[in-house]
Amino acid sequence: MTPSPVKKAKTEDENSSLANQFAERRESAGENVEKFGKFNMKRVKFLTGNEGFLHREAKGVAYYMHRDQRLQDNWAALFAQKLALADNLPLYVIAGISVSHPDHAEATRRTLDFSLGGLEEVAKECAKLNIEFHLLQDMTKPMAERVLDFVKESKVGCVVTDFSPLRAHRERTEDLKEKMAKLDGPCLYQVDAHNVIPVWETSDKQEYAARTIRNKIMGKLGEFLTEFPPVVKHPVDTTYPCKAIDWDLVKKEQKVDESVKSVEWAQPGTVHGYEMLASFVTNRIKIYNKKRNDPNVKALSNLSPWFHFGQLSVQRSVLHVKRSAGTVEAKGIAEQPEDEDSEDEEDEEEEPTPKQPKSPAEAVKAFVEESVVRSELSDNYCYYNEKHGKIEGASDWAVKTLNDHKKDKREWLYTRDEFDEAKTHDELWNSAQIQLTTEAKMHGFMRMYWCKKILEWTESPEQALEFALYFNDHYSLDGADSNGIVGCMWSIAGLHDQGWAERPIFGKIRYMNYAGCKKKFDIAEYSARYGGKAYPYTKKE
Ligand SMILES: Cc1cc2nc3c(=O)[nH]c(=O)nc-3n(C[C@H](O)[C@H](O)[C@H](O)COP(=O)(O)OP(=O)(O)OC[C@H]3O[C@@H](n4cnc5c(N)ncnc54)[C@H](O)[C@@H]3O)c2cc1C
Repeated sequence: MTPSPVKKAKTEDENSSLANQFAERRESAGENVEKFGKFNMKRVKFLTGNEGFLHREAKGVAYYMHRDQRLQDNWAALFAQKLALADNLPLYVIAGISVSHPDHAEATRRTLDFSLGGLEEVAKECAKLNIEFHLLQDMTKPMAERVLDFVKESKVGCVVTDFSPLRAHRERTEDLKEKMAKLDGPCLYQVDAHNVIPVWETSDKQEYAARTIRNKIMGKLGEFLTEFPPVVKHPVDTTYPCKAIDWDLVKKEQKVDESVKSVEWAQPGTVHGYEMLASFVTNRIKIYNKKRNDPNVKALSNLSPWFHFGQLSVQRSVLHVKRSAGTVEAKGIAEQPEDEDSEDEEDEEEEPTPKQPKSPAEAVKAFVEESVVRSELSDNYCYYNEKHGKIEGASDWAVKTLNDHKKDKREWLYTRDEFDEAKTHDELWNSAQIQLTTEAKMHGFMRMYWCKKILEWTESPEQALEFALYFNDHYSLDGADSNGIVGCMWSIAGLHDQGWAERPIFGKIRYMNYAGCKKKFDIAEYSARYGGKAYPYTKKE
Protein backbone atom coordinates (compact mmCIF):
# COMPACT_ATOMS: atom_id res chain seq x y z
CA MET A 1 0.00 0.00 0.00
CA THR A 2 1.32 3.44 -0.86
CA PRO A 3 1.52 6.23 1.68
CA SER A 4 -1.38 8.64 1.74
CA PRO A 5 -0.70 12.29 0.77
CA VAL A 6 -3.68 13.38 2.81
CA LYS A 7 -5.46 11.50 5.49
CA LYS A 8 -9.00 10.44 4.66
CA ALA A 9 -10.73 13.35 6.24
CA LYS A 10 -14.39 12.80 5.50
CA THR A 11 -16.92 10.20 6.40
CA GLU A 12 -19.26 8.87 3.75
CA ASP A 13 -22.11 10.87 5.26
CA GLU A 14 -20.23 14.11 5.01
CA ASN A 15 -19.38 13.41 1.39
CA SER A 16 -22.87 12.47 0.45
CA SER A 17 -23.96 15.69 2.11
CA LEU A 18 -21.59 17.52 -0.24
CA ALA A 19 -23.15 15.63 -3.16
CA ASN A 20 -26.59 16.63 -1.81
CA GLN A 21 -25.53 20.26 -1.46
CA PHE A 22 -24.38 20.31 -5.05
CA ALA A 23 -27.59 18.63 -6.21
CA GLU A 24 -29.62 21.33 -4.42
CA ARG A 25 -27.58 24.09 -6.02
CA ARG A 26 -28.15 22.61 -9.46
CA GLU A 27 -31.86 22.38 -8.84
CA SER A 28 -31.94 25.99 -7.72
CA ALA A 29 -30.32 26.97 -11.05
CA GLY A 30 -33.08 25.33 -13.09
CA GLU A 31 -35.37 22.32 -13.19
CA ASN A 32 -33.45 20.98 -16.19
CA VAL A 33 -31.28 22.34 -18.97
CA GLU A 34 -34.30 23.18 -21.13
CA LYS A 35 -35.83 25.34 -18.42
CA PHE A 36 -32.43 26.78 -17.45
CA GLY A 37 -32.64 29.34 -20.24
CA LYS A 38 -29.10 30.67 -19.73
CA PHE A 39 -27.11 28.03 -21.57
CA ASN A 40 -24.11 29.91 -22.94
CA MET A 41 -23.75 28.87 -26.58
CA LYS A 42 -20.21 30.31 -26.65
CA ARG A 43 -19.20 27.01 -25.08
CA VAL A 44 -20.35 25.13 -28.19
CA LYS A 45 -18.80 24.70 -31.64
CA PHE A 46 -20.74 23.22 -34.53
CA LEU A 47 -18.31 20.99 -36.42
CA THR A 48 -20.31 19.30 -39.17
CA GLY A 49 -23.71 17.91 -40.20
CA ASN A 50 -27.18 18.98 -41.12
CA GLU A 51 -29.23 20.40 -38.29
CA GLY A 52 -32.43 19.77 -40.27
CA PHE A 53 -31.56 16.06 -40.28
CA LEU A 54 -31.25 16.15 -36.50
CA HIS A 55 -34.78 17.54 -36.13
CA ARG A 56 -36.40 15.34 -38.81
CA GLU A 57 -34.70 11.94 -38.81
CA ALA A 58 -32.67 11.45 -35.69
CA LYS A 59 -33.36 8.50 -33.40
CA GLY A 60 -31.31 9.89 -30.55
CA VAL A 61 -28.50 12.15 -29.31
CA ALA A 62 -25.14 10.88 -28.06
CA TYR A 63 -22.52 12.48 -25.85
CA TYR A 64 -19.10 11.05 -26.73
CA MET A 65 -17.34 11.46 -23.40
CA HIS A 66 -13.61 11.70 -23.75
CA ARG A 67 -11.83 14.24 -21.57
CA ASP A 68 -14.52 14.86 -18.99
CA GLN A 69 -15.62 11.70 -17.21
CA ARG A 70 -18.61 12.98 -15.26
CA LEU A 71 -22.29 13.40 -15.92
CA GLN A 72 -23.19 16.33 -13.66
CA ASP A 73 -21.52 19.74 -13.83
CA ASN A 74 -20.63 18.98 -17.42
CA TRP A 75 -21.68 21.45 -20.13
CA ALA A 76 -21.21 18.82 -22.88
CA ALA A 77 -23.60 16.38 -21.17
CA LEU A 78 -26.03 19.24 -20.56
CA PHE A 79 -25.90 20.36 -24.18
CA ALA A 80 -26.55 16.80 -25.35
CA GLN A 81 -29.56 16.54 -23.05
CA LYS A 82 -30.78 19.94 -24.23
CA LEU A 83 -30.78 18.72 -27.85
CA ALA A 84 -32.43 15.44 -26.90
CA LEU A 85 -35.17 17.15 -24.88
CA ALA A 86 -35.85 19.65 -27.66
CA ASP A 87 -36.64 16.88 -30.17
CA ASN A 88 -37.96 14.32 -27.71
CA LEU A 89 -35.14 11.85 -28.41
CA PRO A 90 -33.34 9.20 -26.34
CA LEU A 91 -29.99 10.18 -24.86
CA TYR A 92 -26.78 8.12 -24.94
CA VAL A 93 -23.35 8.48 -23.40
CA ILE A 94 -20.57 6.70 -25.29
CA ALA A 95 -16.94 6.28 -24.25
CA GLY A 96 -13.98 4.04 -24.96
CA ILE A 97 -10.34 3.47 -24.10
CA SER A 98 -7.88 4.36 -26.82
CA VAL A 99 -4.43 3.99 -25.26
CA SER A 100 -2.39 0.83 -24.86
CA HIS A 101 1.01 -0.27 -23.63
CA PRO A 102 3.74 0.18 -24.85
CA ASP A 103 2.66 2.82 -27.42
CA HIS A 104 1.32 5.28 -24.85
CA ALA A 105 3.27 6.24 -21.73
CA GLU A 106 0.05 6.71 -19.78
CA ALA A 107 -1.21 3.17 -20.42
CA THR A 108 -0.49 1.84 -16.94
CA ARG A 109 -2.57 -0.21 -14.51
CA ARG A 110 -2.70 2.91 -12.30
CA THR A 111 -4.11 5.20 -14.96
CA LEU A 112 -6.44 2.75 -16.71
CA ASP A 113 -8.05 1.61 -13.46
CA PHE A 114 -8.60 5.24 -12.49
CA SER A 115 -10.08 6.08 -15.86
CA LEU A 116 -12.27 2.98 -16.11
CA GLY A 117 -13.31 3.39 -12.47
CA GLY A 118 -14.54 6.88 -13.36
CA LEU A 119 -16.46 5.58 -16.36
CA GLU A 120 -18.01 2.80 -14.29
CA GLU A 121 -19.43 5.41 -11.93
CA VAL A 122 -20.74 7.42 -14.90
CA ALA A 123 -22.40 4.27 -16.29
CA LYS A 124 -24.17 3.66 -12.96
CA GLU A 125 -25.41 7.23 -12.83
CA CYS A 126 -26.60 7.00 -16.43
CA ALA A 127 -28.60 3.89 -15.55
CA LYS A 128 -30.37 5.82 -12.77
CA LEU A 129 -31.19 8.64 -15.19
CA ASN A 130 -32.57 6.57 -18.06
CA ILE A 131 -29.52 7.38 -20.21
CA GLU A 132 -27.93 4.47 -22.09
CA PHE A 133 -24.18 4.16 -21.52
CA HIS A 134 -22.27 2.34 -24.27
CA LEU A 135 -18.64 1.38 -23.83
CA LEU A 136 -17.07 1.16 -27.29
CA GLN A 137 -14.57 -1.54 -26.57
CA ASP A 138 -13.28 -2.73 -29.90
CA MET A 139 -9.61 -1.80 -29.55
CA THR A 140 -8.87 -3.13 -33.05
CA LYS A 141 -10.57 -0.01 -34.49
CA PRO A 142 -9.57 3.63 -34.12
CA MET A 143 -11.88 5.50 -31.76
CA ALA A 144 -13.45 7.64 -34.50
CA GLU A 145 -14.45 4.48 -36.37
CA ARG A 146 -16.03 3.03 -33.24
CA VAL A 147 -18.05 6.21 -32.74
CA LEU A 148 -19.10 6.17 -36.39
CA ASP A 149 -20.25 2.54 -36.10
CA PHE A 150 -22.32 3.57 -33.10
CA VAL A 151 -23.86 6.48 -35.02
CA LYS A 152 -24.87 4.19 -37.88
CA GLU A 153 -26.25 1.42 -35.66
CA SER A 154 -28.11 3.61 -33.18
CA LYS A 155 -29.20 6.12 -35.87
CA VAL A 156 -28.48 9.04 -33.57
CA GLY A 157 -28.77 12.36 -35.35
CA CYS A 158 -26.10 14.06 -33.38
CA VAL A 159 -22.89 13.51 -31.43
CA VAL A 160 -21.71 16.02 -28.85
CA THR A 161 -18.09 15.64 -27.85
CA ASP A 162 -15.96 17.40 -25.27
CA PHE A 163 -12.74 19.28 -25.89
CA SER A 164 -9.02 18.91 -25.31
CA PRO A 165 -6.27 20.92 -26.99
CA LEU A 166 -3.89 17.96 -27.07
CA ARG A 167 -2.74 16.57 -30.39
CA ALA A 168 -4.16 13.04 -30.06
CA HIS A 169 -7.57 14.29 -29.01
CA ARG A 170 -7.69 16.86 -31.80
CA GLU A 171 -6.68 14.34 -34.43
CA ARG A 172 -9.40 12.00 -33.24
CA THR A 173 -12.03 14.74 -33.34
CA GLU A 174 -10.87 15.77 -36.82
CA ASP A 175 -11.02 12.14 -37.97
CA LEU A 176 -14.57 11.82 -36.60
CA LYS A 177 -15.58 15.10 -38.21
CA GLU A 178 -14.36 13.93 -41.64
CA LYS A 179 -16.12 10.59 -41.28
CA MET A 180 -19.37 12.17 -40.12
CA ALA A 181 -19.27 14.78 -42.87
CA LYS A 182 -19.37 11.91 -45.38
CA LEU A 183 -22.62 10.63 -43.82
CA ASP A 184 -24.16 13.95 -44.84
CA GLY A 185 -26.68 14.10 -42.02
CA PRO A 186 -25.78 13.55 -38.36
CA CYS A 187 -24.32 16.60 -36.62
CA LEU A 188 -21.14 16.83 -34.59
CA TYR A 189 -20.77 19.49 -31.90
CA GLN A 190 -17.89 20.16 -29.55
CA VAL A 191 -18.24 21.70 -26.10
CA ASP A 192 -15.39 22.89 -23.88
CA ALA A 193 -16.55 21.16 -20.72
CA HIS A 194 -13.16 21.35 -19.00
CA ASN A 195 -12.26 25.02 -18.76
CA VAL A 196 -14.39 27.53 -16.90
CA ILE A 197 -14.07 29.85 -19.89
CA PRO A 198 -13.98 28.07 -23.26
CA VAL A 199 -10.43 28.24 -24.55
CA TRP A 200 -11.53 29.91 -27.80
CA GLU A 201 -13.38 32.60 -25.84
CA THR A 202 -10.56 33.53 -23.47
CA SER A 203 -8.20 34.62 -26.21
CA ASP A 204 -7.80 34.30 -29.96
CA LYS A 205 -4.05 33.81 -29.77
CA GLN A 206 -1.24 32.17 -27.83
CA GLU A 207 -0.66 34.19 -24.67
CA TYR A 208 2.84 35.08 -23.48
CA ALA A 209 2.40 34.39 -19.80
CA ALA A 210 0.01 34.35 -16.85
CA ARG A 211 0.22 38.14 -16.68
CA THR A 212 -1.21 38.51 -20.21
CA ILE A 213 -4.06 36.01 -19.83
CA ARG A 214 -5.06 36.82 -16.23
CA ASN A 215 -7.12 39.93 -17.00
CA LYS A 216 -8.78 38.26 -19.97
CA ILE A 217 -9.88 35.41 -17.71
CA MET A 218 -10.92 37.63 -14.83
CA GLY A 219 -12.92 39.84 -17.18
CA LYS A 220 -15.00 36.86 -18.32
CA LEU A 221 -15.42 34.99 -15.03
CA GLY A 222 -18.68 36.80 -14.30
CA GLU A 223 -20.16 35.47 -17.53
CA PHE A 224 -18.89 31.88 -17.28
CA LEU A 225 -18.43 31.02 -13.59
CA THR A 226 -22.10 30.20 -13.14
CA GLU A 227 -24.09 27.46 -11.44
CA PHE A 228 -24.97 24.36 -13.50
CA PRO A 229 -28.49 23.05 -13.96
CA PRO A 230 -28.87 19.28 -13.37
CA VAL A 231 -28.71 16.51 -15.93
CA VAL A 232 -32.11 14.99 -15.10
CA LYS A 233 -33.82 11.63 -15.46
CA HIS A 234 -34.27 11.45 -19.20
CA PRO A 235 -37.95 11.26 -20.19
CA VAL A 236 -37.46 9.35 -23.47
CA ASP A 237 -36.62 5.64 -23.47
CA THR A 238 -33.82 4.18 -25.55
CA THR A 239 -34.33 2.40 -28.83
CA TYR A 240 -30.80 1.00 -28.81
CA PRO A 241 -30.08 -0.60 -25.42
CA CYS A 242 -26.53 -1.12 -24.20
CA LYS A 243 -24.97 -4.49 -23.46
CA ALA A 244 -24.14 -5.35 -19.85
CA ILE A 245 -20.55 -4.40 -19.09
CA ASP A 246 -18.27 -6.66 -17.07
CA TRP A 247 -16.01 -3.91 -15.71
CA ASP A 248 -13.55 -6.30 -14.07
CA LEU A 249 -13.09 -8.06 -17.38
CA VAL A 250 -12.72 -4.79 -19.26
CA LYS A 251 -10.01 -3.69 -16.80
CA LYS A 252 -8.24 -7.03 -17.12
CA GLU A 253 -8.29 -6.94 -20.92
CA GLN A 254 -6.44 -3.63 -21.25
CA LYS A 255 -2.85 -3.72 -22.46
CA VAL A 256 -1.14 -1.79 -19.69
CA ASP A 257 2.15 -1.62 -17.83
CA GLU A 258 1.15 -3.73 -14.83
CA SER A 259 4.23 -2.68 -12.86
CA VAL A 260 2.75 0.80 -12.26
CA LYS A 261 0.13 0.03 -9.66
CA SER A 262 -2.93 1.91 -8.43
CA VAL A 263 -2.59 3.96 -5.27
CA GLU A 264 -4.79 3.79 -2.22
CA TRP A 265 -5.18 7.54 -1.62
CA ALA A 266 -6.62 8.36 -5.05
CA GLN A 267 -9.76 6.36 -5.76
CA PRO A 268 -11.53 7.01 -9.05
CA GLY A 269 -14.83 8.75 -9.61
CA THR A 270 -16.66 11.96 -8.91
CA VAL A 271 -17.70 10.90 -5.40
CA HIS A 272 -14.06 10.44 -4.40
CA GLY A 273 -13.27 13.76 -6.06
CA TYR A 274 -15.88 15.37 -3.79
CA GLU A 275 -14.19 13.67 -0.85
CA MET A 276 -10.85 15.25 -1.73
CA LEU A 277 -12.50 18.62 -2.31
CA ALA A 278 -14.18 18.41 1.09
CA SER A 279 -10.93 17.58 2.86
CA PHE A 280 -9.16 20.44 1.06
CA VAL A 281 -11.74 22.97 2.16
CA THR A 282 -11.85 21.63 5.71
CA ASN A 283 -8.18 21.02 6.35
CA ARG A 284 -5.81 22.53 3.86
CA ILE A 285 -7.07 25.68 2.21
CA LYS A 286 -6.23 27.68 5.32
CA ILE A 287 -2.53 27.05 4.74
CA TYR A 288 -2.68 26.85 0.94
CA ASN A 289 -1.15 30.30 0.33
CA LYS A 290 1.55 30.14 2.86
CA LYS A 291 2.61 26.55 2.62
CA ARG A 292 1.86 25.28 -0.84
CA ASN A 293 5.49 25.52 -1.87
CA ASP A 294 6.71 23.45 1.07
CA PRO A 295 6.80 19.78 0.05
CA ASN A 296 6.83 18.71 3.72
CA VAL A 297 3.44 20.26 4.42
CA LYS A 298 0.07 18.96 3.28
CA ALA A 299 -1.33 22.20 1.89
CA LEU A 300 -2.18 21.36 -1.71
CA SER A 301 -5.68 20.49 -2.90
CA ASN A 302 -4.50 17.15 -4.38
CA LEU A 303 -7.38 17.48 -6.84
CA SER A 304 -5.30 17.14 -10.00
CA PRO A 305 -6.09 13.43 -10.69
CA TRP A 306 -9.85 14.13 -10.66
CA PHE A 307 -9.43 17.38 -12.59
CA HIS A 308 -7.27 15.67 -15.19
CA PHE A 309 -9.82 12.95 -15.90
CA GLY A 310 -12.65 15.44 -15.68
CA GLN A 311 -14.18 13.38 -12.88
CA LEU A 312 -14.47 16.58 -10.90
CA SER A 313 -15.38 19.89 -12.50
CA VAL A 314 -12.94 22.73 -11.86
CA GLN A 315 -15.89 25.11 -12.13
CA ARG A 316 -17.81 23.23 -9.43
CA SER A 317 -14.71 23.19 -7.21
CA VAL A 318 -14.12 26.91 -7.61
CA LEU A 319 -17.79 27.67 -6.88
CA HIS A 320 -17.57 25.53 -3.75
CA VAL A 321 -14.26 26.96 -2.56
CA LYS A 322 -15.59 30.51 -3.05
CA ARG A 323 -18.76 29.71 -1.11
CA SER A 324 -16.75 28.11 1.66
CA ALA A 325 -14.53 31.18 2.04
CA GLY A 326 -16.94 32.67 4.56
CA THR A 327 -16.84 29.50 6.63
CA VAL A 328 -13.06 29.45 6.52
CA GLU A 329 -12.97 33.08 7.64
CA ALA A 330 -15.27 32.24 10.51
CA LYS A 331 -12.78 29.66 11.72
CA GLY A 332 -10.30 32.47 12.40
CA ILE A 333 -7.42 31.75 10.15
CA ALA A 334 -4.46 34.00 10.86
CA GLU A 335 -3.80 36.80 8.44
CA GLN A 336 -0.91 36.21 6.13
CA PRO A 337 1.68 38.75 4.99
CA GLU A 338 1.20 40.46 1.66
CA ASP A 339 3.82 39.64 -0.91
CA GLU A 340 3.68 40.94 -4.43
CA ASP A 341 5.80 38.41 -6.23
CA SER A 342 4.66 35.82 -8.73
CA GLU A 343 6.27 33.53 -11.24
CA ASP A 344 6.47 36.34 -13.77
CA GLU A 345 7.56 39.11 -11.49
CA GLU A 346 10.40 37.42 -9.58
CA ASP A 347 13.37 39.67 -9.17
CA GLU A 348 15.81 37.01 -8.16
CA GLU A 349 16.47 33.90 -10.12
CA GLU A 350 15.07 31.40 -7.75
CA GLU A 351 12.18 29.04 -7.59
CA PRO A 352 8.92 30.97 -7.77
CA THR A 353 6.99 31.75 -4.63
CA PRO A 354 3.22 32.02 -4.84
CA LYS A 355 1.44 35.22 -3.92
CA GLN A 356 0.75 35.45 -0.23
CA PRO A 357 -2.73 36.90 0.01
CA LYS A 358 -3.60 38.44 3.33
CA SER A 359 -7.04 37.07 4.11
CA PRO A 360 -8.94 33.79 3.68
CA ALA A 361 -11.03 35.41 0.95
CA GLU A 362 -7.75 36.21 -0.73
CA ALA A 363 -6.72 32.57 -0.23
CA VAL A 364 -9.56 31.65 -2.55
CA LYS A 365 -7.98 33.87 -5.17
CA ALA A 366 -4.84 31.78 -4.96
CA PHE A 367 -6.86 28.67 -5.76
CA VAL A 368 -8.51 30.46 -8.67
CA GLU A 369 -5.07 31.55 -9.86
CA GLU A 370 -3.86 27.93 -10.01
CA SER A 371 -6.95 26.04 -11.05
CA VAL A 372 -8.27 28.58 -13.55
CA VAL A 373 -5.57 31.05 -14.63
CA ARG A 374 -2.56 28.68 -14.74
CA SER A 375 -4.51 25.71 -15.96
CA GLU A 376 -6.37 27.63 -18.69
CA LEU A 377 -3.06 29.21 -19.74
CA SER A 378 -1.85 25.65 -20.35
CA ASP A 379 -4.84 24.87 -22.54
CA ASN A 380 -4.35 28.20 -24.35
CA TYR A 381 -0.75 27.26 -25.19
CA CYS A 382 -1.55 23.75 -26.43
CA TYR A 383 -4.57 25.00 -28.40
CA TYR A 384 -2.69 27.70 -30.27
CA ASN A 385 0.73 26.06 -30.61
CA GLU A 386 0.84 22.96 -32.78
CA LYS A 387 4.37 22.24 -31.60
CA HIS A 388 3.33 21.81 -27.98
CA GLY A 389 5.48 19.30 -26.15
CA LYS A 390 8.47 19.96 -28.43
CA ILE A 391 11.43 22.27 -27.95
CA GLU A 392 10.52 24.07 -31.21
CA GLY A 393 7.25 24.99 -29.53
CA ALA A 394 9.10 27.29 -27.12
CA SER A 395 9.77 31.02 -27.70
CA ASP A 396 12.54 31.96 -30.14
CA TRP A 397 14.78 33.34 -27.37
CA ALA A 398 14.50 30.07 -25.46
CA VAL A 399 15.17 27.85 -28.48
CA LYS A 400 18.20 29.99 -29.33
CA THR A 401 19.67 29.98 -25.85
CA LEU A 402 19.19 26.22 -25.47
CA ASN A 403 20.88 25.67 -28.85
CA ASP A 404 23.73 28.02 -27.91
CA HIS A 405 24.42 25.81 -24.90
CA LYS A 406 23.67 22.42 -26.38
CA LYS A 407 27.32 21.40 -26.52
CA ASP A 408 28.17 22.61 -23.01
CA LYS A 409 29.93 20.04 -20.89
CA ARG A 410 27.57 18.14 -18.57
CA GLU A 411 29.09 17.20 -15.22
CA TRP A 412 26.49 14.48 -14.76
CA LEU A 413 24.73 12.48 -17.43
CA TYR A 414 22.10 9.85 -16.67
CA THR A 415 20.30 7.27 -18.75
CA ARG A 416 16.51 6.98 -18.66
CA ASP A 417 16.83 3.84 -16.52
CA GLU A 418 19.06 5.57 -13.97
CA PHE A 419 16.53 8.37 -13.63
CA ASP A 420 13.68 5.89 -13.56
CA GLU A 421 15.25 3.95 -10.70
CA ALA A 422 16.08 7.13 -8.76
CA LYS A 423 19.81 6.45 -8.89
CA THR A 424 21.37 9.89 -9.31
CA HIS A 425 23.98 11.50 -7.05
CA ASP A 426 21.26 13.77 -5.56
CA GLU A 427 19.14 12.31 -2.76
CA LEU A 428 16.62 15.14 -3.11
CA TRP A 429 16.01 14.45 -6.79
CA ASN A 430 15.82 10.72 -6.08
CA SER A 431 13.27 11.33 -3.33
CA ALA A 432 11.11 13.38 -5.70
CA GLN A 433 11.26 10.58 -8.27
CA ILE A 434 10.25 8.05 -5.59
CA GLN A 435 7.34 10.27 -4.57
CA LEU A 436 6.22 10.31 -8.21
CA THR A 437 6.56 6.59 -8.83
CA THR A 438 5.06 5.39 -5.54
CA GLU A 439 2.42 8.05 -4.80
CA ALA A 440 1.37 8.82 -8.39
CA LYS A 441 1.78 12.55 -7.78
CA MET A 442 4.87 14.61 -7.03
CA HIS A 443 4.56 17.75 -4.93
CA GLY A 444 4.14 20.81 -7.18
CA PHE A 445 7.28 22.56 -5.95
CA MET A 446 9.45 19.49 -6.40
CA ARG A 447 8.19 19.07 -9.98
CA MET A 448 10.06 22.24 -10.96
CA TYR A 449 13.36 21.21 -9.32
CA TRP A 450 13.01 17.64 -10.62
CA CYS A 451 12.44 18.76 -14.20
CA LYS A 452 15.18 21.39 -14.28
CA LYS A 453 17.71 18.82 -13.07
CA ILE A 454 16.69 16.52 -15.91
CA LEU A 455 17.73 19.34 -18.27
CA GLU A 456 21.07 19.66 -16.46
CA TRP A 457 21.81 15.92 -16.47
CA THR A 458 20.84 14.83 -19.98
CA GLU A 459 22.56 15.06 -23.35
CA SER A 460 20.25 17.68 -24.88
CA PRO A 461 17.12 19.72 -24.11
CA GLU A 462 15.19 17.46 -26.53
CA GLN A 463 16.20 14.39 -24.55
CA ALA A 464 15.39 16.15 -21.26
CA LEU A 465 11.88 17.02 -22.45
CA GLU A 466 11.32 13.51 -23.76
CA PHE A 467 12.37 11.92 -20.44
CA ALA A 468 10.45 14.40 -18.29
CA LEU A 469 7.22 14.00 -20.25
CA TYR A 470 7.60 10.23 -20.28
CA PHE A 471 8.01 9.97 -16.48
CA ASN A 472 5.29 12.52 -15.89
CA ASP A 473 2.78 10.73 -18.12
CA HIS A 474 3.80 7.24 -17.05
CA TYR A 475 3.65 7.65 -13.28
CA SER A 476 1.55 10.69 -12.47
CA LEU A 477 -2.20 10.26 -12.19
CA ASP A 478 -2.58 13.78 -13.55
CA GLY A 479 -0.14 13.14 -16.44
CA ALA A 480 -0.79 13.39 -20.20
CA ASP A 481 -2.31 16.79 -19.58
CA SER A 482 -1.76 20.28 -21.00
CA ASN A 483 -0.62 21.31 -17.49
CA GLY A 484 2.10 18.64 -17.65
CA ILE A 485 3.27 19.72 -21.10
CA VAL A 486 3.43 23.33 -19.99
CA GLY A 487 5.04 22.46 -16.63
CA CYS A 488 7.81 20.51 -18.36
CA MET A 489 8.24 23.20 -21.01
CA TRP A 490 8.31 25.96 -18.39
CA SER A 491 11.08 24.10 -16.57
CA ILE A 492 13.15 23.07 -19.58
CA ALA A 493 12.33 25.59 -22.27
CA GLY A 494 11.35 28.79 -20.44
CA LEU A 495 7.74 28.70 -21.62
CA HIS A 496 5.67 31.55 -20.14
CA ASP A 497 8.83 32.74 -18.39
CA GLN A 498 11.45 35.38 -19.11
CA GLY A 499 15.20 35.16 -19.77
CA TRP A 500 17.58 35.14 -16.80
CA ALA A 501 21.35 35.60 -16.38
CA GLU A 502 23.15 33.27 -18.78
CA ARG A 503 24.85 30.16 -17.40
CA PRO A 504 26.11 26.81 -18.74
CA ILE A 505 23.62 24.27 -20.14
CA PHE A 506 20.57 26.37 -19.15
CA GLY A 507 21.59 29.46 -21.10
CA LYS A 508 18.98 32.04 -20.12
CA ILE A 509 16.45 29.50 -18.82
CA ARG A 510 15.62 29.99 -15.14
CA TYR A 511 17.86 27.90 -12.91
CA MET A 512 17.05 26.08 -9.69
CA ASN A 513 19.45 24.33 -7.37
CA TYR A 514 19.80 22.30 -4.21
CA ALA A 515 20.98 25.30 -2.16
CA GLY A 516 17.81 27.20 -3.10
CA CYS A 517 15.67 24.29 -1.92
CA LYS A 518 17.62 24.17 1.34
CA LYS A 519 16.58 27.76 2.06
CA LYS A 520 12.94 26.96 1.37
CA PHE A 521 12.26 23.73 3.21
CA ASP A 522 13.77 20.90 5.24
CA ILE A 523 15.43 18.69 2.61
CA ALA A 524 16.39 16.04 5.17
CA GLU A 525 12.77 15.62 6.25
CA TYR A 526 11.56 15.27 2.67
CA SER A 527 14.32 12.83 1.73
CA ALA A 528 13.78 10.75 4.86
CA ARG A 529 10.08 10.41 3.99
CA TYR A 530 10.78 8.99 0.53
CA GLY A 531 14.11 7.32 1.26
CA GLY A 532 16.03 8.73 -1.70
CA LYS A 533 19.74 7.97 -1.39
CA ALA A 534 22.71 9.58 -3.13
CA TYR A 535 24.34 7.09 -5.54
CA PRO A 536 27.99 7.25 -6.63
CA TYR A 537 28.23 8.65 -10.15
CA THR A 538 29.54 6.50 -13.00
CA LYS A 539 31.15 8.78 -15.55
CA LYS A 540 29.76 8.47 -19.10
CA GLU A 541 31.92 8.66 -22.21
C1 LIG B 1 7.50 19.71 -14.43
C2 LIG B 1 6.04 19.90 -14.12
C3 LIG B 1 5.12 18.93 -14.48
C4 LIG B 1 3.76 19.10 -14.22
N1 LIG B 1 2.90 18.13 -14.60
C5 LIG B 1 1.56 18.29 -14.41
C6 LIG B 1 0.64 17.34 -14.88
O1 LIG B 1 1.02 16.34 -15.52
N2 LIG B 1 -0.68 17.56 -14.64
C7 LIG B 1 -1.13 18.64 -13.96
O2 LIG B 1 -2.33 18.79 -13.75
N3 LIG B 1 -0.27 19.58 -13.52
C8 LIG B 1 1.06 19.45 -13.72
N4 LIG B 1 1.92 20.41 -13.28
C9 LIG B 1 1.40 21.64 -12.64
C10 LIG B 1 1.26 21.55 -11.10
O3 LIG B 1 2.47 21.17 -10.53
C11 LIG B 1 0.17 20.57 -10.70
O4 LIG B 1 -1.05 20.95 -11.34
C12 LIG B 1 -0.11 20.52 -9.21
O5 LIG B 1 1.05 20.17 -8.51
C13 LIG B 1 -1.20 19.49 -8.97
O6 LIG B 1 -1.41 19.27 -7.62
P1 LIG B 1 -2.66 19.86 -6.84
O7 LIG B 1 -3.91 19.57 -7.55
O8 LIG B 1 -2.55 19.37 -5.44
O9 LIG B 1 -2.30 21.39 -6.94
P2 LIG B 1 -3.02 22.71 -6.40
O10 LIG B 1 -1.93 23.68 -6.08
O11 LIG B 1 -3.96 22.40 -5.35
O12 LIG B 1 -3.74 23.28 -7.69
C14 LIG B 1 -5.10 23.05 -8.01
C15 LIG B 1 -5.18 22.85 -9.50
O13 LIG B 1 -4.69 23.98 -10.19
C16 LIG B 1 -4.03 23.59 -11.37
N5 LIG B 1 -2.62 23.98 -11.28
C17 LIG B 1 -1.87 24.12 -10.16
N6 LIG B 1 -0.63 24.53 -10.48
C18 LIG B 1 -0.59 24.64 -11.81
C19 LIG B 1 0.41 25.02 -12.74
N7 LIG B 1 1.63 25.40 -12.36
N8 LIG B 1 0.11 25.01 -14.05
C20 LIG B 1 -1.12 24.66 -14.48
N9 LIG B 1 -2.11 24.30 -13.65
C21 LIG B 1 -1.85 24.28 -12.33
C22 LIG B 1 -4.17 22.07 -11.47
O14 LIG B 1 -5.32 21.77 -12.21
C23 LIG B 1 -4.34 21.69 -10.02
O15 LIG B 1 -4.98 20.46 -9.85
C24 LIG B 1 3.31 20.27 -13.55
C25 LIG B 1 4.24 21.25 -13.18
C26 LIG B 1 5.59 21.07 -13.45
C27 LIG B 1 6.57 22.13 -13.04
